[in-house]
Amino acid sequence: MKKVDIILSNGTVVTMNEHLDVFPQGAVVIKDGQIVAVGPAADLGGEYEAEQTIDCAGQVIMPGLINAHTHVPMSLIRGLADDLRLDVWLYGYMLPVEREFMNEESCYYGTLLSCAEMIRSGVTCFADMYYFEDEVARAAQEAGMRAICAETVMKLPTPDATSYDESLEYCRRFIAGWKGHELIVPAVGPHSPYTCTPEILRETARLTQEHDVPLLIHIAETEGGVEGTRQLYGCAPAFCLDDFGVLDSKTLAIHGVHLTEEEMELMVQKGVGVAHCPTSNLKLASGVAPVTRMLDLGLNVGIGTDGPASNNNQDMFEEMRLAALLAKGITGDPKAVPSRIALTMATIGGARALHLDRITGSIEVGKQADLAVVDMDVLHVTPKFELSSDNIYSRLVYAAKSADVRHVLVNGRLLMRDRELLTVDVETITAEVQRIADRVNVFLMRREESLLDKLVAIGGLEWRETFEVQVKGSVEGEVAVKEGLAHPDISAVWRPSVRDQYDAYLLFADKGQGCIRHREDNVMREEGAVPESIRTLTLTEPGIEQEFDNSVLLSRSRFTSKADRTLRFYCEYFEPDSVKEVSKHRQRWHIRYKGVQFAVNFDRLTKPAYEGAFLEIKSRTWSKKDAEQKALLIGELLDVFNVDRGNLLKQDYVDF
Ligand SMILES: [Zn+2]
Repeated sequence: MKKVDIILSNGTVVTMNEHLDVFPQGAVVIKDGQIVAVGPAADLGGEYEAEQTIDCAGQVIMPGLINAHTHVPMSLIRGLADDLRLDVWLYGYMLPVEREFMNEESCYYGTLLSCAEMIRSGVTCFADMYYFEDEVARAAQEAGMRAICAETVMKLPTPDATSYDESLEYCRRFIAGWKGHELIVPAVGPHSPYTCTPEILRETARLTQEHDVPLLIHIAETEGGVEGTRQLYGCAPAFCLDDFGVLDSKTLAIHGVHLTEEEMELMVQKGVGVAHCPTSNLKLASGVAPVTRMLDLGLNVGIGTDGPASNNNQDMFEEMRLAALLAKGITGDPKAVPSRIALTMATIGGARALHLDRITGSIEVGKQADLAVVDMDVLHVTPKFELSSDNIYSRLVYAAKSADVRHVLVNGRLLMRDRELLTVDVETITAEVQRIADRVNVFLMRREESLLDKLVAIGGLEWRETFEVQVKGSVEGEVAVKEGLAHPDISAVWRPSVRDQYDAYLLFADKGQGCIRHREDNVMREEGAVPESIRTLTLTEPGIEQEFDNSVLLSRSRFTSKADRTLRFYCEYFEPDSVKEVSKHRQRWHIRYKGVQFAVNFDRLTKPAYEGAFLEIKSRTWSKKDAEQKALLIGELLDVFNVDRGNLLKQDYVDF
């Protein structure tokens, strides 16, 4: 009798090997973490003597599931902000919270929580992409799971690096620290083509090839991302990655929802793996990946849950069931992605996509013992048929649930026995995670109360306190203005400009909040020149007004930033009670009158449409005395420009 460590006996062994062998009364024999024999229990029983034999009667012994894409520490922010568009979700919530709260400690606890969740659903291996991957790797190792840990690199500052050079330096140290580990495979994760630069793509490709480690990258997740990639690089995502050598690494392409046929063909040639994340793609309304076509073309496709903030769980049973159903719904073909293929994708297909199929993904002699044992003697999987060889897959994919997973082993080590987690202290972890979540909660609740804090959260802010003396009046037409400008006491300071301004005011019922203006300013600095488009976002807090004879003194705080997102983004992010649009054609002069500078605007409103024109005269000020003097001069200017005192207006255009 040969001495071994563990025998799993009397279960239905679903091997997922090349021939899809199934042994109805089978056994799996494990020694030193490896599978040393698999076959009918009756044959193996007399050959091996194990320290521990686990009777698996009424159960299925199958390869552990492989979660081909996730961001494990994000379990910390599971359910924080849902039902939002990808950009609002990402730039409005995820990135600000990550900047504030993701550190070594939180990534460690977030990972442990995810590991506990995944082990309980039969997952033995996952591919992660996040920050502080050293901590992710440490936690995964403690939990005993197999993991590909990819440190994220992108052009934006991240929670663990102020620049991409720092991220690359982190990657080098990280790879050196973990290379050759029995469970952890260090990797590099350039986030996506459009959040990287050519240099980052080239450097990460070079780094992964130099150290022979995997490269993980999001690709063609949304239409917007593809468009962004085209604008940056002038070609479709897969071709641009190929240009920079990214496809020559052990590459995993994540999502691929909007890949073209040509891109998929290129990826087949290059041996690129794909992580299909159906729940996340549905939840963020990104679309449905052409999985049937990918499989037909011969791509290695695995299934991933994506991070717990966009799923919101890491249940691979749910995920493979959805992968099978969705493919049928979208193609109109019930034969698309049969249960056998769905289970393949969640096991050996995932291992191939991750370039790990030599060590895991199926029950074969010589592979590491990464296994899940699933109870089939449960109501919702009863009864059983043996009509076709596919019956067993259909029971596992369409009927079984993650809660039916009974034992889990990785590298021959039991991580869960009879549903009891053996490597993770659930009580401590859930308490730690809730402690961090409570802090996130307080932070966001405070932020939601203030427009300014929300504006700060999306970055790039400039603060300006302005004190202005100003007057506005309706005028007949341009002639009066031109005549006024010709006055001997008036001289031009800068060249005049012509602009079309499209403003959208985001208004709030609580006036104390102030209001936000999104402005698209199309400036024509010279006649016939192509207008330059400048988009800004301005938060104006309620001001203090003081009236003079001919004008008004305004003091208000204004916070401006470049508006680098769409108006739709800002509306969904700030959720105003109403939005009012104002557009106008503006001619602007900067003049000097009796030694004092004024700005003179001649405006025609186009929205709301308004007969006639308006003249605005304004000047910056810094003291009440100065304001009084300027108010006097403004009075004189009203005469110069021939404005009737009866036509003066106090409201802003938005209040018309
Ligand atoms: Zn992702």
